[in-house]
Amino acid sequence: MNPNILQTPIDYLKGVGPSRADLLRTELGVHTYQDLVNLFPNRYIDKTNYYKINELQRTSAEVQMVGKIVHIKMVEQKRGKRLVAKFIDDTGEMELVWFRGHKWIKENIKLNIPYVIFGKTKYYNGFSMPHPEMELLSEHEKNLKVMMQPVYPSTEKLSNRGITNRVLSKMMQQLFLDTKARFYDTLSEEIRSELKLIHKSEAILNIHFPKNQELLAKAQYRLKFEELFYIQLQLITKKLIRKQKIKGFPFTEVGDHFTNFYNNHLPFELTNAQKRVIKEIRKDIGSSAQMNRLLQGDVGSGKTIVALMTTLLAIDNDFQACLMAPTAILANQHYQGIVELTKDLNINVRLLMGSSKAKERREIHQELEDGTLHILIGTHAVLEDKVKFKNLGLAIIDEQHRFGVAQRSKLWHKNTYPPHILVMTATPIPRTLAMSLYGDLDISVIDELPPGRKSIKTVHRYDSNRLKVFKFIADEIQKGRQVYVVYPLIQESEALDYKDLMDGYESIARSFPTPDYQISIVHGKMKPADKDYEMERFVKGETNIMVATTVIEVGVNVPNASVMIIESAERFGLSQLHQLRGRVGRGAEQSFCILMTSFKLSSDSKTRLETMVRTNDGFDIAEVDLKLRGPGDIMGTQQSGVLNLKIADIVRDNDILKTARYYAMKILKEDPSLSLEKNKILLFTYQQLAKHKNIWNYIS
Ligand code: ADP
Ligand code: MG
Repeated sequence: MNPNILQTPIDYLKGVGPSRADLLRTELGVHTYQDLVNLFPNRYIDKTNYYKINELQRTSAEVQMVGKIVHIKMVEQKRGKRLVAKFIDDTGEMELVWFRGHKWIKENIKLNIPYVIFGKTKYYNGFSMPHPEMELLSEHEKNLKVMMQPVYPSTEKLSNRGITNRVLSKMMQQLFLDTKARFYDTLSEEIRSELKLIHKSEAILNIHFPKNQELLAKAQYRLKFEELFYIQLQLITKKLIRKQKIKGFPFTEVGDHFTNFYNNHLPFELTNAQKRVIKEIRKDIGSSAQMNRLLQGDVGSGKTIVALMTTLLAIDNDFQACLMAPTAILANQHYQGIVELTKDLNINVRLLMGSSKAKERREIHQELEDGTLHILIGTHAVLEDKVKFKNLGLAIIDEQHRFGVAQRSKLWHKNTYPPHILVMTATPIPRTLAMSLYGDLDISVIDELPPGRKSIKTVHRYDSNRLKVFKFIADEIQKGRQVYVVYPLIQESEALDYKDLMDGYESIARSFPTPDYQISIVHGKMKPADKDYEMERFVKGETNIMVATTVIEVGVNVPNASVMIIESAERFGLSQLHQLRGRVGRGAEQSFCILMTSFKLSSDSKTRLETMVRTNDGFDIAEVDLKLRGPGDIMGTQQSGVLNLKIADIVRDNDILKTARYYAMKILKEDPSLSLEKNKILLFTYQQLAKHKNIWNYIS
């Protein structure tokens, strides 16, 4: 086959034409023959089975049936017209219904002739099937015999415009005719024989037109492996290139600042996990390659001190460091904390935020450029072009998922050499996911909490128990504690959510009246200055209760707050619940997290709540979360489109991922530039992929 044929625009495929081509492009991202070949079915329907009307169940599964239409009529109602056909087989009768496309149906449908129909049935005073796919039995028998009917991804627009699954299948058949279904193999002979993978052509054929279950499974394995393999190949290559080519400033000195701090000013003994991570970091930045490390540690595991000690190493080597946080509140908290920790060290730490005054900014710019400023802490403001360092040697990014890739690379470009980068996240990413997402980063984990931390007691309460919960709050406040009450804020129902928040606030204000109680409220519609002011009051202990939306999710540290009430907890995702819970349990007192819900709970919600009650372990929670939601949705990555896999599934295909990673490493170890003859096809495919798609298409 001429390989270029796959680059043919989809418009040229017989049966497509310009308007369908447009739809395929916009709705499915299918631009070329190649894209269509790679449009893999979501699932398959066993079409070996025909259902009888009296066998139908009240499920929403799709079924295939044989029968005749004996009658057709238009039914007019206030809400519109529908076309209704009476469909019978030898066991009973049901209705076929169309809400659109009446003219075509009426003109083309043949009465009293056997049809094969296919679709989802509905039950309401008997069974019906809206918008069935139909084919004359005689035609059906002539067509390519497929036992397993593929179901392709679709959108409402596509099905409204007549591009049904059947039409897509037809296009696929046409494509296979045009291309003679010969595809060059994208994996090397060696890999294929070691793993007993089927040829690419056979895999592609069987993914679209499976001959049987066994071949389908082989086709899926082969294509999933290939997809994961090339991602791993790309990630590992990047890492190798970075280690070899991207020079960093070696921080060879462990000097006065670090030693002095370590010996005389550590406010507590480091946990073993903290010590281990500091060692890992020291090893990294002591070499001449640039560090690119992800530091994972559950909330409260003590990442800040690790960050600080890393900056001290930078300063000992005459470099500047910068610490970036996603919100003003957080940046401020880091600033306060680090100023306190370093007060006897004689180093210059400053805070730069959007709200910083012009005069202050000028000073900061000046000190950065003449090198007298050692640590700059701030928000996105530090990324502005005007901010120039004399010699930035280390950039630390807190709560990494809130920053985009572009922003990160901006930091990178502030220097001749890229600074060492340490990314800190409190969102535990399951190892499996981390491997595919951050395969090009090194990963450190603080998997141990500082000693003496009491684990947070978590309970689930129904809304009907609110009075008891209020009584509990009152008791805790009586003991001098502070309380968070958090409401969901979901974009789609923002107005409603604000109403909930305000209603909740009023009810709390009624039960906890001034002057005995002081209440803060913080939400996204407030001006930043007002928000900060309210936060400040709570931090200082001037208010007893903080009523808030999830704006407090990240990083806020109020050790005296020991109760976290989460309202409508069933509406939060697991990782968010865990983040919120992490706001308490930061002091010496026993802390509590109360998950409030209504009685109506989906089974997923129940699992989430049970998981929260069962465990405090962020990694454990992350694994459950991954299973419930799938990777696309982890930590709100849906919006940013983290993993855009065509066929593999990070959760279910974990074993394939491991195998793919193993082989990618093995091959690159032997042949880092893929220049051996046997790896020629790997290099070629790799380059093809890289041309069309940067790895950041998978990760962004
Ligand atoms: P996070 O990892 O969530 O950023 P922090 O660095 O804010 O955690 O630390 C949480 C709290 O634990 C802080 O009050 C910090 O001072 C304290 N802490 C950190 N490490 C230790 C330790 N080894 N021993 C005792 N307390 C510690
Ligand atoms: Mg932190």
